[in-house]
Amino acid sequence: MLNMKLVKSPRQMRRIGDELRQTGKKIGFVPTMGYLHDGHLSLIRSSASECDVTVVSIYVNPLQFGPGEDLQRYPRDLKRDLKLAAAAGADVVFAPSDKQMYPERMLSFIEVEKLPDYLCGVRRPGHFRGVTTVVGKLFNIVGPDRAYFGNKDYQQARVISRMVNDLNFPLKIRLLPTIREADGLAMSSRNAYLNEEERRQARVLIESLRLARRLIREGTRNSEKIKKVMGQLITTRKSAKIDYIQISDPLTLEPKTKVVGDVLVALAVFIGKTRLIDNLIVKGN
Ligand code: AMP
Repeated sequence: MLNMKLVKSPRQMRRIGDELRQTGKKIGFVPTMGYLHDGHLSLIRSSASECDVTVVSIYVNPLQFGPGEDLQRYPRDLKRDLKLAAAAGADVVFAPSDKQMYPERMLSFIEVEKLPDYLCGVRRPGHFRGVTTVVGKLFNIVGPDRAYFGNKDYQQARVISRMVNDLNFPLKIRLLPTIREADGLAMSSRNAYLNEEERRQARVLIESLRLARRLIREGTRNSEKIKKVMGQLITTRKSAKIDYIQISDPLTLEPKTKVVGDVLVALAVFIGKTRLIDNLIVKGN
């Protein structure tokens, strides 16, 4: 849209949302941490095609980063993001400062139980509490009818869907497919950290997921066996260090020792210093 608006203050964002709702406009919302790529843009395009107005938030949320993680280095380029968001069909970009989001020390948090006990939640204690708290705040500020999330962060989407159901947030969650580079690597703002050699080796995430899918299709049912073969492939890449590989129930996220029905195959791998995640849902038979 030509006249895309940049809004920094939560109060102004709230007022814009109120006005839109009063005139019966359907608001689509795409929360992001910025440094936009085609994964984000696919969510923005879907919102623009399904809703009257699309709001994109760009906010690197300190609450969801643990000590020693990449909060300070996280790539940021608002100018570039504004151009990309506008071209994809965004009408409003909400990009608050830390002071505007957290004017005083937070004493209130949203915490979903159980779902963060697996996968990334184990490796990043407090991460999902930070995510649900900021997403809850953003939902209250923007007041969307629909919010768009990517399958790439599958656990995050499950946690947020559960929060929306449990706490009666008046909106619908749309979960959309992972957008990949030509060689299969899931798009991520963190891919910008990779040097050329690491970028080549990062392909091993999707290669190992596809290997798992093939084994399952060919009849392997033992999760340990599948994880072992994935691990063997991953460790052939010098820069790769496995954080976790898991085969889980796609709804509860509980680990499954046997592949029965649909499964989530998910992993996190360090490529050099960069932690990347990816997953596939493999349909059972
Ligand atoms: P982030 O900026 O990384 O917090 O991501 C913001 C939203 O974009 C989340 O809903 C992500 O799941 C989604 N997203 C990130 N990467 C991709 C991708 N490669 N394909 C689809 N959605 C993505």
